[in-house]
Amino acid sequence: MQRYDLVVIGSGPGGYVAAIRAAQLGLSVALVERYPTLGGTCLNVGCIPSKALLDSSEHYYNAQKHFADHGILVEKMALNWEKMMARKAQVVKQTVGGLEYLMKKNKIEVFHGHGRFVSANEVAVDGGPTLYGKAIVIATGSKPADLPHILIDKRRIITSTEALSLGEIPKRLVIIGGGVIGVEMASIYGRLGTELTVIEYMDRLLPGMDADAAEETRRLLSGDYGAKILLGYTAQRAEVGEGGVRIVAEPRKGGEPVIVEADYALVAVGRRPYTQGLELEKAGLSTDERGRIPVNAHLQTAVPHIYAIGDVIHGPMLAHKASEDGVFVAEQLAGRRPHLDYLQVPSVVYIWPEVAGVGYTEDMLEKEGRAYRVGKFPYRASGRARAAHESRGFVKVIADAKTDLLLGMHIVGPRAADLIGIGVAGLAYGASAEDIFRLPLAHPTFSEALKEAALAASEGASIHL
Ligand code: FAD
Ligand code: NAD
Repeated sequence: MQRYDLVVIGSGPGGYVAAIRAAQLGLSVALVERYPTLGGTCLNVGCIPSKALLDSSEHYYNAQKHFADHGILVEKMALNWEKMMARKAQVVKQTVGGLEYLMKKNKIEVFHGHGRFVSANEVAVDGGPTLYGKAIVIATGSKPADLPHILIDKRRIITSTEALSLGEIPKRLVIIGGGVIGVEMASIYGRLGTELTVIEYMDRLLPGMDADAAEETRRLLSGDYGAKILLGYTAQRAEVGEGGVRIVAEPRKGGEPVIVEADYALVAVGRRPYTQGLELEKAGLSTDERGRIPVNAHLQTAVPHIYAIGDVIHGPMLAHKASEDGVFVAEQLAGRRPHLDYLQVPSVVYIWPEVAGVGYTEDMLEKEGRAYRVGKFPYRASGRARAAHESRGFVKVIADAKTDLLLGMHIVGPRAADLIGIGVAGLAYGASAEDIFRLPLAHPTFSEALKEAALAASEGASIHL
């Protein structure tokens, strides 16, 4: 039997990062992946291909709608879907290929095949050897959730995986679920001219994110792409016919159902942890009522030398969260004392302008009954935003009412995905809103709006408003 300090099951951003960090710190590491390529959901069918298509579709949309504002006239424009998809595939191939190099560089032994527990220290790889791990990390990720009465046939009723590989641009698309995937997919296809309907169970899009950001997102999808957004509706039934699908959506609080016809129905109602065929019971483990593997604050399962990370445990289902979990576990195994705080993990929605948030939302603080102050600065008052013709959106800074401690930051605006890093640093280092105001940020930049919102939270005023 081959013996390792660490055996990692699953090569997504949780598993592969745990493997690299552990190897860097001197552990011998084996990585088990059931698919032929490394990188998990994120690199193969998630973050990377979706961002590739978001970027391509944004270029197309801007060329059609915004170049003229800058005095650039494009007379003959055409869209080559095959080329767009081929570029996406190439981006994925390169990224996934890069991981193989990193595995070799760090002397991590990779085994392709389904992994399952034989005992609390042994993992059998289908078609391969049985591996002995002094420690084991379960990083098996998640799969799309489904709905009880709507069968995903992967042809007309699809998940994000199929939506990222369609052979044609749909004329009409109905999206069930107005969460992150629903909104990002609506952006891709809305920009390419698809007629969109979004059916969302809650009374707002993007539940869990800042309420003003969610409302701005609703305006954006309906304003820019003419999307029809049904809030407070649930998709009840689906009928698949020749070349299309009919979805019956019922209002949650009662009333007449709405029938939506489309070429495809995308089911994007969340993801569920994936532990199928892992034979957890052989290691003395089980899952909770939501299919997650329970872990303690050290991310140890009920068996202390077996850890679990990423989408298969609690916390936000995000690639960077999975990677933070992976580093956290690897460093503990190497005798370090890292820390982890999910409140400092930012969420980003890659529409345009981007939506990003970190820390507390106002809803969370109201539930906790904690007194807070809010400072908001609109991008229309930013010189950089005007120069870029990008004046939609805002920055919102939330601070403790008594101490001025930064509690949260929420941005809708150009490059929000990158700017939120300042909010992350502020939260991690215990900054006050005043501290953010005092950062000498460059002019003219989109980041100046963060200072303005921070001053508004701290003292109720902004310089340029
Ligand atoms: P995964 O990436 O799911 O990897 C798990 C791996 O384990 C898989 O490769 C699987 O094949 C393997 N595996 C499972 N069981 C076994 C077994 N028994 N034996 C061997 N191997 C096994 N997050 C972001 O932060 N930013 C984004 O922009 C973003 N965009 C997304 C877009 C889409 C369309 C989707 C679907 C998700 C997106 N996410 C994004 C979420 C992100 O992909 C996940 O949070 C992340 O991949 C979770 O990482 P993980 O390592 O926990 O699991
Ligand atoms: P989600 O939890 O973000 O959204 C699911 C939505 O579906 C919710 O708004 C929910 O209210 C709605 N819903 C549930 N049941 C419904 C029903 N019967 N009818 C209508 N609506 C219903 O999940 P998702 O969008 O599927 O994304 C899955 C995961 O992937 C998320 O955790 C997300 O963080 C991650 N992801 C992240 C990114 C990113 O970071 N940019 C991008 C894509 C996905």
